[in-house]
Amino acid sequence: MSAKLKKDKREPVRIQLKKNDNVKVIAGRDRGKTGRVLDVDSSTGRIVVEHVNMIKKHTKKNPAKQIAGGIAEREGPIAVSNVMILCPKCGPVRIAHHMVAAPGGKTIRQRICRKCGQTLDKK
Ligand SMILES: [Zn+2]
Repeated sequence: MSAKLKKDKREPVRIQLKKNDNVKVIAGRDRGKTGRVLDVDSSTGRIVVEHVNMIKKHTKKNPAKQIAGGIAEREGPIAVSNVMILCPKCGPVRIAHHMVAAPGGKTIRQRICRKCGQTLDKK
């Protein structure tokens, strides 16, 4: 097991991924797996991806809170640098940004695929 990183001493990391993005793991124990982003933590630079980095969590039973106790399997966080976003057309790609005019004279930043230019943001 690796030592726990001190949260408070680190600069927040800019993460271009959002919840519910489809990503592919490109490095580490679960390399090759794809899944949906469940959680993003910019203070640690880590994300949680569905069915990736499954860890066994030992929980003590607590009848007052209806927790049964025992060993539960759940997703552990992995470093954002170990995943790439999946473009529906091209597969794993890097993200480019692009300004789009929005109603009301505003411009919004949109994430697009660097290969085919398709938007990666869901409406
Ligand atoms: Zn693409």
